[in-house]
Amino acid sequence: MTCLKRIIVFVLALVILAGCAIKPAAPPGKADERLELIPRSRESSPGPHCLPAELNVHFLDVGQGDSILIQFPDGRNMLVDAGGNDDASTIVSYLKKTGVKKLDYLIGTHPHEDHIGSLDTVINNFQIGEVIMPKVTHTTRTFRDVLEAIDRKGLQIRPAKAGVSIMEDGLLAARVLAPCGEDYNELNDYSAVIMLTCGEVSFLLSGDAEALSEKEILASGAAVKADVLKVGHHGSNSSTSAAFLKAVGPRYAVISVGAENDYGHPHQVTLDRLKKQGVEVIRTDQQGTVLFTTDGKELSFTTEK
Ligand SMILES: [Zn+2]
Repeated sequence: MTCLKRIIVFVLALVILAGCAIKPAAPPGKADERLELIPRSRESSPGPHCLPAELNVHFLDVGQGDSILIQFPDGRNMLVDAGGNDDASTIVSYLKKTGVKKLDYLIGTHPHEDHIGSLDTVINNFQIGEVIMPKVTHTTRTFRDVLEAIDRKGLQIRPAKAGVSIMEDGLLAARVLAPCGEDYNELNDYSAVIMLTCGEVSFLLSGDAEALSEKEILASGAAVKADVLKVGHHGSNSSTSAAFLKAVGPRYAVISVGAENDYGHPHQVTLDRLKKQGVEVIRTDQQGTVLFTTDGKELSFTTEK
């Protein structure tokens, strides 16, 4: 190597070294923070997170009653309520048609027949993970049937109460916002109210919780903002108080209700309140089963009657 070549090599080496030296080192934790900011939708490998697969939330048309199937992207399933006693075949065949074999989380929001009526048949027909119900009993045959089905399978009931986290996994979460108290006059106010979040999209499933429970939820300081509100108590005027609706600020309101029911649900005052706030109302009595799909950012729905 000539002297000139040696000098050139030396100078080049110096330039490279200097380049390395002046490049600022990444602060500790910076790379991790950056990763956190990238929504999981852009990650390539599917995992137990919201994205890139989708979350499906089905509001089944069970007439005057509730039954909501949630399919998590990793294959886990949750069922919130199981309609009335007469809805067993509708619910079981819908779950089977949808490919459900196991319900990882089975929630009975409160012991009224139009919510827990077919829970016993569901328990008998599917593998069950956790059963979650509020700590309240009822004297009906329907409620006894549910307890017996739970007992026969050797399952335990996890009490639903404000602050309980049913599941939290990456960008997915299902948390219980109510009941906040332990003693109510109305069975409806024992309703397990579930906040389901998937990335930036959230669903508030409010069972039959009435104005008293809504007030307690607001007082608890829980985050209630949601894109979709499952309207409390089938659109009764005893739920969906103005303050609660304002705080939730939903884009869509699902009313799970039977056509020409004996209670006059949904009540006009509730419909007016929703309209005034510019919420799009979807009714199972008019539009049938409603299926929401989200990737954690976008939200869309279809209906099937
Ligand atoms: Zn009800």
